[in-house]
Amino acid sequence: MNASHKKIFVPIMIGFMLLMLFRGLNKPGSSVSMDYSDFLKTVESGSVTRITLQGDDITGVTGQGAFHTFAPEDPELMTLLKSKGVQIWAKPVNGDSWVRTILSWVPMLLMIGVWIFFMRRMQGGNGNLLSFGKSKARLMSDSRGKVTFEDVAGIDEARDELQEIIDFLKDPGKFTRLGGRIPKGVLLVGAPGTGKTLLARAIAGVAGVPFFSLSGSDFVEMFVGIGASRVRDLFNQGKKNAPCIIFVDEIDAVGRRRGSGVGGGHDEKEQTLNQLLVEMDGFESNEGVILIAATNRPDVLDPALLRPGRFDRQVVVSVPDIMGRLGILKVHVRNNPLSDDVDLKVLARGTPGFTGADIENMVNEAALMAARRGKDQLEMVDLEDAKDKVMMGPERQSMIISDAEKKAMAYREAGHALVARLLPGTDPIHKVTIIPRGQSFGLTQQLPMSEKHAYPKSDLQNSICILMGGRAAEEIIFNTQTTGTGDDIRKASELARKMVCEFGMSKELGPLAFGKEEGQVFLGRAFGRQREYSRMTVQKIDEAVRGIVVEAYKKALALIKDNLDTLGNIAMALLEKETLNRGDIDELMAGGQSP
Ligand code: ADP
Repeated sequence: MNASHKKIFVPIMIGFMLLMLFRGLNKPGSSVSMDYSDFLKTVESGSVTRITLQGDDITGVTGQGAFHTFAPEDPELMTLLKSKGVQIWAKPVNGDSWVRTILSWVPMLLMIGVWIFFMRRMQGGNGNLLSFGKSKARLMSDSRGKVTFEDVAGIDEARDELQEIIDFLKDPGKFTRLGGRIPKGVLLVGAPGTGKTLLARAIAGVAGVPFFSLSGSDFVEMFVGIGASRVRDLFNQGKKNAPCIIFVDEIDAVGRRRGSGVGGGHDEKEQTLNQLLVEMDGFESNEGVILIAATNRPDVLDPALLRPGRFDRQVVVSVPDIMGRLGILKVHVRNNPLSDDVDLKVLARGTPGFTGADIENMVNEAALMAARRGKDQLEMVDLEDAKDKVMMGPERQSMIISDAEKKAMAYREAGHALVARLLPGTDPIHKVTIIPRGQSFGLTQQLPMSEKHAYPKSDLQNSICILMGGRAAEEIIFNTQTTGTGDDIRKASELARKMVCEFGMSKELGPLAFGKEEGQVFLGRAFGRQREYSRMTVQKIDEAVRGIVVEAYKKALALIKDNLDTLGNIAMALLEKETLNRGDIDELMAGGQSP
């Protein structure tokens, strides 16, 4: 029985025992029970000397001892008793015993007990009912391992910005000398896993001031007013410990735009937010309390939170770029023995869109994989496999794929790879595989030479053409269309639509943007496009999107038709080896039969 079972079990046992006791007390002492007809006979025989009537209960004594019985409504009973000269005592139904009075309280006491029990559980078991409105801020200490700025890589701007805050806490005079005002609050904005919490912990590590940390959801309780009182308590704690830093993670849990809740009204969250705003106004940053909050949804925050004097500084913690990823990789492989073939630069290039958390996860997976494979060092294959696992989920080894299906997969991937190689100006191919992972059945991965922030139109057209390579190959080879290319088709259509509607890259429609993303506050997510153009334009947009995709498809068809031999060679090699790398593809393109 585990602890939580015990917690429930004990009150139930106590209740049960009390119930038994109650029943036991209700029973008349050690008298024998008698049926009514026997009782009448006994009275008639004259051996009953005295009885006590209490409601329907009859207790009495005969020459043999005490007895008890239960009397039905019998009008003749009294006459009989009187005729036999039995002494009759009558008692009120409820009795007069003090035990009964106490026992009548038992159910009530039990209920109170159960209530207290649940209250304590709701409080996370910290026991004290009166600490409801106290903040749950934890003073961050070294218990989780000290983090310093050395552990944070790839987000230098954010780091520098926060470094300034630390400098201020160490020497406020330096900044206020010229009349400057130190920000009261810093809002860290960034996608999940980009290192916001890590940054905050690093500040705690280096600032050398007390650091209180709590999550926005800690304010949220069932009872109105609790959140607000927690905010008050948090700031009181902060002021007492000044100079200090208060870190609120996931502030969107309390800081949502007011009046946006479904059902609206002045609810608990609004009260909490109002209190937060009041407290932020109420202290001077020179007092040395600095509030740092983190969120990945700045768009749903109440504008009042963001205005100067509150979170007047927003620090964007962005998804790292290629150099950032390299830095983060270096941080995380510090404690892993690496084999000589590991090239962190290639890994950094091959992990676009990875956040710090993804990279940490990847290195960890690689270490586990290497251990499972009985190695004493992490090799490049381990890291590559771990990367694919993090990107697309684990290999689906149990999936049964028929030979025919495998062949189709091989041709589809070969189609992607071939088109990618034939189109001028595309990124080199890193890997082609037909091992199914997560949701995808195969993959052709290209490796960008450098990170781009603005893509030329030709790149986008090429991407669509490569996506179409799979469908083109299956059309040419098998003369059919399968659902296997559905995902490519969806991606290609989305990209083409973006080209037309967002990037203004369509010849027919010109450099215009159509529609804008519409955010719905209470659902907290983008909710579609707002239409601000005519129906005619809708038709033109559809035509333009279709034009882009169809053109790319035709191009893919032509490229593949002209290089059918190479397509076949790549597909055969894939069937044989399942995964081909850049060198294999190069060789096949140069006319080699099979690597
Ligand atoms: P967030 O709070 O932004 O969701 P975290 O700070 O919790 O993300 O990041 C999770 C983990 O990812 C961290 O513990 C750290 O190991 C790793 N990580 C994230 N960003 C970085 C970075 N810039 N440098 C080093 N490690 C990072």
